[in-house]
Amino acid sequence: MATAADTIEFRELPHPAPTSDADRALALANPGFGTQFTDHMVSIEWTEGEGWHNATVGPLQPIPLHPASAVLHYAQEIFEGLKAYRHPDGSTALFRPEENARRFNKSADRLAMPHLPEALFISAIEALLAKDGGWIPEGAGASLYLRPFMFADEVFLGVRPAKRYRFMVIASPAGNYFKSGAPAVSIWVSSEYTRAAPGGTGAAKCGGNYAASLVPQAAAIERGFDQVVFLDAVERKWIEELGGMNLFFVFDDGRVVTPALTGTILPGITRASLIELLRAEGLDVSEGRYSIDQWEADARSGKLVECFACGTAAVVTAVGRVAGHDIDFTVGSGGPGQVTEKVKATLTGIQRGEIADSHGWVRKL
Ligand code: PMP
Repeated sequence: MATAADTIEFRELPHPAPTSDADRALALANPGFGTQFTDHMVSIEWTEGEGWHNATVGPLQPIPLHPASAVLHYAQEIFEGLKAYRHPDGSTALFRPEENARRFNKSADRLAMPHLPEALFISAIEALLAKDGGWIPEGAGASLYLRPFMFADEVFLGVRPAKRYRFMVIASPAGNYFKSGAPAVSIWVSSEYTRAAPGGTGAAKCGGNYAASLVPQAAAIERGFDQVVFLDAVERKWIEELGGMNLFFVFDDGRVVTPALTGTILPGITRASLIELLRAEGLDVSEGRYSIDQWEADARSGKLVECFACGTAAVVTAVGRVAGHDIDFTVGSGGPGQVTEKVKATLTGIQRGEIADSHGWVRKL
């Protein structure tokens, strides 16, 4: 299902009424998360036989969809999330976008969708940033969140992989993901619902996974918690991840554990980066299994000193209180510990161009 062209030219469509400088400054002063959007969007079409074609960068606008478009019925949709940062030297930088491109194609494989050449994924983002680079907010925790996505828009109600898709990129200025810029999040353990089963789509970034996580997430919020943590679907005891973040556990003897990528967990790019950064700090990081009972026992005995969640949107956030139907405990001090603070500072320093990037992770435009 590959297309011949690794990259194609983007046709520029004129914008009749771009946001005024004053309105943009207002939006950037208080970006929030996911509510404001830049002026442009990228669109590329794919059809069987023709491959990727008709690449445009034009005004952000609603997209007309036939009511029988496959995505509206069978949810053939995948997406990515990454951020653009304004570096101190004025340049624009992305963090490991090749990894997002690679994961996008893995998600495409699982959802029976065509591959998008990695170079095209990145040039689409660059085409959007060439237009909307002025929308990158500055200041602590701020960035321009980029949302590449692909969906099936073939008009057909039969259940089979569609023969027509659209890839798009939109962008949204972002401040802190958690409203309060919270020092720690509280977590509800879902015993009723699971996020992903073996052989399912847990390792893919497809919309359906998130639809399935909304009820347990809402239940957590209703109980006064920030996030839900999912356990494995088979034994209902192994810790997997949050609705949109991976987890790390830090022990008093210098060991760090993060749940292994068993196929039911999203392989986070932040997770992969932190494993390298923590190892560079001399910590003994392993990917393995960690049970909910052990989590409670280790928090109570003091063996577990820190726990944090990580992802593009929330970066690195300490986990404080953890509760479920028959458990309730707090990790360490209930706030961010030393390891959490240090690794967060290193990661954000590299992303923001304040710390030298010895890993080759930063892609300057
Ligand atoms: N798990 C899930 C379910 C997610 O949606 C995300 C966000 N993409 C993550 C983990 C973290 O992944 P990343 O570090 O690549 O943002």
